[in-house]
Amino acid sequence: MYNITLIPGDGIGPEVAEAAKSVIEATGVKIRWETVNAGIDVLAKEGILVPDKVFESLEKTRIALKGPITTPIGSGFKSINVMLRKKYDLFSNIRPIKAIPGIAVPFQNVDLVIFRENTEDLYIGVEKTIDEGTAEAIKRITREGSLRIIKAAFAYAHQNHKSKVTVVHKANIMKLTDGLFLQCAREVSKDYPHIQLQEVIVDNMCMQLVMNPSQFQVIVTTNLYGDILSDLCAGLVGGLGVVPGANLGKDMAVFEAVHGSAPDIAGKNIANPVAMILTGAMMLHYLGESDKSYSIYKAVETTILEGKFVTKDLDGSASTKDMTNAIIENISL
Ligand code: ATP
Repeated sequence: MYNITLIPGDGIGPEVAEAAKSVIEATGVKIRWETVNAGIDVLAKEGILVPDKVFESLEKTRIALKGPITTPIGSGFKSINVMLRKKYDLFSNIRPIKAIPGIAVPFQNVDLVIFRENTEDLYIGVEKTIDEGTAEAIKRITREGSLRIIKAAFAYAHQNHKSKVTVVHKANIMKLTDGLFLQCAREVSKDYPHIQLQEVIVDNMCMQLVMNPSQFQVIVTTNLYGDILSDLCAGLVGGLGVVPGANLGKDMAVFEAVHGSAPDIAGKNIANPVAMILTGAMMLHYLGESDKSYSIYKAVETTILEGKFVTKDLDGSASTKDMTNAIIENISL
């Protein structure tokens, strides 16, 4: 029996979190869910953005499945997603981008993993208004922060028999900050002589990714570039509706899809549940339930290949619930 914190989030969060929960349960794995929530909906109901019970549950279970929580643009409201990553030092944001057979995309064999640094860079949120027409933000890169994400990327590449790690930077312009990140990548790569370190400037990376994405295996980069490249890469394999993710620290793991709360489609039972379901599969793999994790991947693949119950973003007309039920039907253990 595993104790897991479930944070449904808002927007499409509750719909896709429920989908992921029911698919995970259909594998037979025994989980005691502690459901807690945060965000503007909770603020309206309980008068607090992040109730203490969210922290208490996370600190007890040390593992969560989390839906997206909206961060309004341009308001004083700080991102709860970013706050949780920083508070619990979840420094490794891992996003596997893999083509799923049956989804019509220009490249059939994309199979890469993004390691995005998750705690520093422009995301430290230090901004100030200088005068009416000028504002500044601090981009902080540290040696310690860089080394640990780069080490995680190389360790993953080594364990998974990958021959290349691509470090993405803009050190030609940001010589000190991105320069430090790049320097750290060069240092770590010395411990892995059998793995090639490829250095690519972020703008060139965007072009390379849309022209020939299958040349990449493992990508490691700073926080903001990682955020942007994740959405770009999601577009290569069918969109945000199919890309899972994990935020890992030393002693806590929060599993969270790449997509946000998608307010444009929230509450309509049309969101694609696959990203969150595959996020659940990543969580099972992390727990050592690899067979059950794999059975979810296979069930998703079969459902998409059959094409009968897929959501609108994948050119189908199924509801979130219909697609989830079809995936559950296709689970074979
Ligand atoms: P954030 O900055 O909070 O991560 P975002 O800018 O990446 O969010 P999303 O909320 O993820 O934006 O939505 C971007 C677009 O992708 C929207 O048009 C949304 O409808 C679509 N989208 C996101 N997730 C899904 C999903 N699970 N199923 C279908 N469409 C989705």
